[in-house]
Amino acid sequence: MCGIIGFSGTENCVPLLLEGLKTLSYRGYDSAGIAVHTDGGVTTVKAKGKLEILEEKLKTHGGLFGTCGIGHTRWATHGAPSLRNAHPHLSGNRKFAVVHNGIIENYASLKAELEAEGFSFASETDTEVVCHLLEKYYKGDLKEAVFSAVKRLEGSYALGILCSDMPETLVAVKRFSPLIIGIAEDANMIASDVTAIVPHTKKVIYIGDGEIAFLTPSSVELFDWQGSMKDRRISIVNWDVVSAEKNGWDHFMMKEIMEQPRAVAETLERNIKNGEVVFEGLKLDATRLKKINRINIIACGSAYHAGVVAKYVFEELLRIPTEVDLASEFRYRNPIVDGDTLTLAISQ
Ligand code: GLU
Repeated sequence: MCGIIGFSGTENCVPLLLEGLKTLSYRGYDSAGIAVHTDGGVTTVKAKGKLEILEEKLKTHGGLFGTCGIGHTRWATHGAPSLRNAHPHLSGNRKFAVVHNGIIENYASLKAELEAEGFSFASETDTEVVCHLLEKYYKGDLKEAVFSAVKRLEGSYALGILCSDMPETLVAVKRFSPLIIGIAEDANMIASDVTAIVPHTKKVIYIGDGEIAFLTPSSVELFDWQGSMKDRRISIVNWDVVSAEKNGWDHFMMKEIMEQPRAVAETLERNIKNGEVVFEGLKLDATRLKKINRINIIACGSAYHAGVVAKYVFEELLRIPTEVDLASEFRYRNPIVDGDTLTLAISQ
């Protein structure tokens, strides 16, 4: 699950982008990056690994300054976790910078189409098709280009977009992935979750699925997919930052319990392709799986309890003896494991 943050305001947004990314970092990430409008066009700085590395890079970048920008923490789905695949991604003419959360399901056919038309790709991500589509459809009207490009995209995505011809404008697109608009005194902003917005403002717009927003420091315009203008539904967040992190629940425990259906769906989503369950990274074929005669589950805390539930399910459905161990104790045992034992380690 990645994090998206974006600002269009009057002060330097670079430190604000970094702060926002830190707030969103609990969502997990493998690389991070920002893009800001500068005098010389859109400038991007990215880093693989921890946000501290991005922060260090920014220091050596000689005080990057811009009042409108986007930031991203990536959780790779298409292409390795690497500097090359880190967001934001740029169009070939460097006019458009894009951050994306989610998956563009039809990226392969779009990529083939764009490559046949002469666009060349700099990354392995599905996201990059969005940059080239924007370039392809841009004839001087940003809104037209955005509407034309998003109509081509299938899948789930939240997008933050910059166009160098409109240095005060930040574009937000939402379809099934989370994205929220914040409305402050001298700035408007976007973020994957309200925790990154409440330090700046309590006024938010929950963008609906299939909606597109154009933000400047003083305006927010909301459209549907067909380009018809929508009413802005401003809500007031009545939480401080701590309770916002609890998403409105009184206790983190309640939040975690209530989030389970969504968390389970989001976790499984990336392992279901065309109705089939696939674990691409697992490298266990059916022959190997059939030989398994013992399962060891190793976990701590709540994950241990999840393991105990799994033991019941596995023994019931698979008839394979399953043991659950507290990970902190397992290292002290002389466990009976061999080449046909499957070990599952569960961690948050
Ligand atoms: N699918 C995109 C990628 O692999 C975005 C992943 C994310 O949500 O961080 O780069």
